[in-house]
Amino acid sequence: MKNYKLLTPGPLTTTDTVKREMLFDHCTWDDDYKAITQEIRKKLLGLAHVSEEDYTAVLMQGSGTFGVESVLTSVIADSDKLLIVANGAYGDRMELIAQHAKLNYVIYREDYDKIPDWKKVNELLDADPEITHVSMIHSETTSGILNDIQSVGAVVKEHGCTFIVDAMSSFGGVDIPVKDWGIDFLVSSANKCIQGVPGFSFIIAQREKLIKSKGIARSLSLDLYDQWETMEKDGKWRYTSPTHVVLAFAQALREMEAEGGIEARHKRYETNNRLLVQKMKELGIHTYIEEKYQGPIITTFFYPENCKFEFQEMYQYIKERGYAIYPGKITKADTFRIGTIGEIYPDDIEKVCQIIKEFLGGKKYE
Ligand SMILES: *Cc1c(COP(=O)(O)O)cnc(C)c1O
Repeated sequence: MKNYKLLTPGPLTTTDTVKREMLFDHCTWDDDYKAITQEIRKKLLGLAHVSEEDYTAVLMQGSGTFGVESVLTSVIADSDKLLIVANGAYGDRMELIAQHAKLNYVIYREDYDKIPDWKKVNELLDADPEITHVSMIHSETTSGILNDIQSVGAVVKEHGCTFIVDAMSSFGGVDIPVKDWGIDFLVSSANKCIQGVPGFSFIIAQREKLIKSKGIARSLSLDLYDQWETMEKDGKWRYTSPTHVVLAFAQALREMEAEGGIEARHKRYETNNRLLVQKMKELGIHTYIEEKYQGPIITTFFYPENCKFEFQEMYQYIKERGYAIYPGKITKADTFRIGTIGEIYPDDIEKVCQIIKEFLGGKKYE
């Protein structure tokens, strides 16, 4: 039996009860199954604090990137122009998607350890009235920084533009009042804070804007409108759906409710994160992101001073003792990352910090 826990930002450690749901091979055109899809869609709108009148939820096969690509290539027409706001690898990935689809776009890049400035977005929108859409990451998993989508959303709305948010690693773990923050399309996936397993992404879409996007899509299988149109009828997915993943996700949503919803989950993740940062500080290991911008999802740490080791060595040591951590994704400095989401509790954080302490004990030099 393999038995390490994941301290990564998704896929993450899920409960046994979520995994157990996957032991049943469900029929896809069966009414019970379609009802599960509809129930999931309804619950997602609840978590987003939006009504069925204004918004609708679409489930899309594939990992999170498929969801982002689906939105960007389905709602931005040839006559539109996109402003991508990027301060990490996932923002850069939006640019790659735009390039592949030959979208008309501009990009505002910010340093990986800084949050994009809403005033700068305001200036860019003032200077270029051709911009119709703005896209941005909420929790930049590259660094762990939590971007201020609320302030940017307000500016985007003032300019009458459409706001697309990749809230992949935050939705469910950080409360996001989608309509109040001016978000028109929010993307997340099954294997992040809702604590399901990988296999599909989901989009919370402003209903009118989604309907208006009919016919724009550049891809058949990622056509957001088409996917929605089929799903909206009775919960049937357009093409084969990941049935086991869907069953597991329905269970994950029930467990999230039982825990106390987003509020309780946020509290647990934040407690994990604060404990981790404090314990690491005691070991002389400091965070890459300033405290006020650090999110509760994942944390980037600099390598400690006076120690010499390779990431792989530390990874292996920790793995053998029951936990998997994440390499750094910052190019300018030597870092590693530890996720604090999933079925993870303060006890796990205490344990992993103790393991790291033991590991570093053998690596010190003066
Ligand atoms: C996980 C994640 C994605 C999606 O990545 P996949 O590998 O396609 O699941 C996108 N954006 C952010 C911010 C993420 O954390």
